[in-house]
Amino acid sequence: MDFEDSPELAAFRAEVRDFLDAHAQLRHGDDRDWSRNGAALDPEVAADYRRRCVEWQGLLYSSGWAGLTWPTAFGGRGLTAAHQIVFNQELARYDATSGFLTAAMALVGPTLMAHGSAEQQERYLAPLLSGQEAWCQLFSEPGAGSDLAALATRAVRDGDEWVVNGQKVWTSSAQHADFGILITRTDPDVPKHDGLTYFIVDMRSPGVDVRPLVQAQGVAHFNEVFLDDVRVPDANRVGEVGGGWKVARTTLRSESSMISGAGQATNFGAVLSTCRRLARTGDPLVRQELAKVFTDEQIMKWMSMRTQTAVMTGRKELALHGSLLKNFFTRALTRRVNLAVDVEGAEGMLWTDAEGEGFWQYQFLNQFAPKIGGGTEEVHRNNLGEQALGLPREPSTDKDVPWSQSKRA
Ligand SMILES: Cc1cc2nc3c(=O)[nH]c(=O)nc-3n(C[C@H](O)[C@H](O)[C@H](O)COP(=O)(O)OP(=O)(O)OC[C@H]3O[C@@H](n4cnc5c(N)ncnc54)[C@H](O)[C@@H]3O)c2cc1C
Repeated sequence: MDFEDSPELAAFRAEVRDFLDAHAQLRHGDDRDWSRNGAALDPEVAADYRRRCVEWQGLLYSSGWAGLTWPTAFGGRGLTAAHQIVFNQELARYDATSGFLTAAMALVGPTLMAHGSAEQQERYLAPLLSGQEAWCQLFSEPGAGSDLAALATRAVRDGDEWVVNGQKVWTSSAQHADFGILITRTDPDVPKHDGLTYFIVDMRSPGVDVRPLVQAQGVAHFNEVFLDDVRVPDANRVGEVGGGWKVARTTLRSESSMISGAGQATNFGAVLSTCRRLARTGDPLVRQELAKVFTDEQIMKWMSMRTQTAVMTGRKELALHGSLLKNFFTRALTRRVNLAVDVEGAEGMLWTDAEGEGFWQYQFLNQFAPKIGGGTEEVHRNNLGEQALGLPREPSTDKDVPWSQSKRA
C-alpha cells in the first residue's frame, strides 16, 4: 500500500483542511454531533438534521467543494477520484455531512450526465449538486427487487406525455423528494429488459401518493409510492423508449460503488465500552467475540486502504470487488451489534437501556437495511461467483420470453 500524497495531493489536502477548519467543528464522536442525527426518532431533530445537510451541501457548492469529480461542464471541479478520497478522509474528522442528499448525487448525477438531454442536464444538475432539490429512486416494486427488470409499473404514451400507473416500494426519502428517477414498462410484449423506459418524475405531480413505511425502530426511512394516472412529459424521458435498462444500469453501477465505499464505518470502541460498563471484559467468551469484532475492524480498514491505494496509484489490479467489501461490512456489523445486545442480556430487550435512547437496539434492528439495500447479500455472492471467480452465470429461463408471458412473483 502507498499512503504518501503526491505533492499535488498534499497541497490539495492542505486546502481542504483550511476550508473545513474555517467552516465546520471537529467531530466529538458522541451525541453532541449533529451529523449523527440521520436516524433520529424525534421529528424535530430529524427536520433539523435535514436542514443542516441542505445548508452544508449549499456551502460546499458555493465554495467550489461540491462535485469534485464531476466534469466542469456540469458544475463540478473535474478532479480525480484520488482528490475525492482525500476530501472524504479529511471530512471524516468533522461534524458535517450532506446526509440524505449524498445518495441522490451519486445516483442521479452520473445517470443524467451520461444519458440525459442537454435540457435535462441544464435544468436538473445544478440544483441537485447544490442540494436545493432532493431526489429519490423509484425502482423496486412489490414483485421486482433483485430481479428488477421484471417490474410492472406501466407507462403508456398519450401525445407529448406518458401516463404512468403502478406501485413502487422501499423508496428511500421519497417523502422529502422533489423529483424521482423512475423505471417503467412501456412494452410488455418484448423480453423484460427490452421493454423498459426511464423517466424523471416530479414528485408533486397529481396522482403521486407517498406513504411512509414505519420500521421496527420507529423511523420511516423509506416509503411505498403509488402512481395513479401520473402524467409525465416526454421531455422527462431519459434515453430511448425501450432503452431504460441501459440507463438503469448506469444508476445501479453508481449505487454499488457508493455502497461498497461504506465499509469504513467502525465501532469497536462502543462495543468495548458497553462490555466494560457491564464488567464483562474478563469473560473469556466475551473476550473472544471482542477479538473478532476488533479483527473485523482492522480487516475493513486494510481493505479500504487497499482500495484507496488502487485509486490513488491507478493500480487497478489492487482494487477489491465491491461485493466483497459490502458483504464483509454487513457481516461485521451483525457480529458487532449482536455482541452488544447479547452482553446487555435482559436489558438488551429494552428500548431505553442504560446507554439511553436505544443506541444498540436501533443498530440491532437496523442491521438488515444495509444487508438488503443496494443488492442483497445473496445477490452480491452471485456477483462474486460470476465476476470474481468466473463461475457460470445463473440460468435464466425468461431471457427471450416476452415479459407479458413470463412467470412473475
Ligand atoms: C434500506 C433500504 C433502502 C432501499 N432504498 C431503495 C430505494 O430508494 N429505491 C428503490 O427502488 N429500492 C430501494 N430498496 C429496495 C432494494 O433495492 C430491494 O429490497 C433489494 O433489491 C431486494 O429486493 P426485494 O426486497 O424485492 O427482495 P427479493 O429480490 O424478493 O429477495 C428475497 C430473497 O431472495 C433472495 N434472492 C433473490 N434473488 C436471488 C438470486 N438470484 N440468487 C440468490 N438469492 C436470491 C434475496 O437475497 C433475498 O434473500 C431499499 C432497500 C433497503 C433495505
